[in-house]
Amino acid sequence: MSDFAQVKDNIHTFEADKPLMKEESAALLQLAKDMYSGSVLPCTACRYCTSHCPRHLDIPELIKLYNEHRFTGGGFIAPMALSALPKDKWPGACIGCRSCEKVCPQQIKISEMMKDFAKRLQES
Ligand code: SF4
Ligand code: SF4
Repeated sequence: MSDFAQVKDNIHTFEADKPLMKEESAALLQLAKDMYSGSVLPCTACRYCTSHCPRHLDIPELIKLYNEHRFTGGGFIAPMALSALPKDKWPGACIGCRSCEKVCPQQIKISEMMKDFAKRLQES
């Protein structure tokens, strides 16, 4: 949570004592399993990293697209979303300086993700 509005929103979400449906539980368990196995990167979109990127990449957004791309085994959503951005904002624009990684509370290996994402996009 990055601001008070998000805190309030989360409190509102958990105010109601509403049990999950069977399908929702299964989906959450699968997501947790994927996160634990490392196939989904646990970015919380806190954006601590973005001001440290010399290429001004939207790191959390790129991680979101990367997760989607990996989770679905490829597909059109990430390439389509990236096509709306200038190429100097694509994962391939990362220079691997790792300044972002020094401030990431989730210790995500962002530079490796960018490299892998760029490679996957080339192959798709
Ligand atoms: S490693 Fe890549 S994403 Fe991270 S700060 Fe450097 S250029 Fe930006
Ligand atoms: S600092 Fe880490 S968790 Fe926060 S937005 Fe950047 S990559 Fe995601």
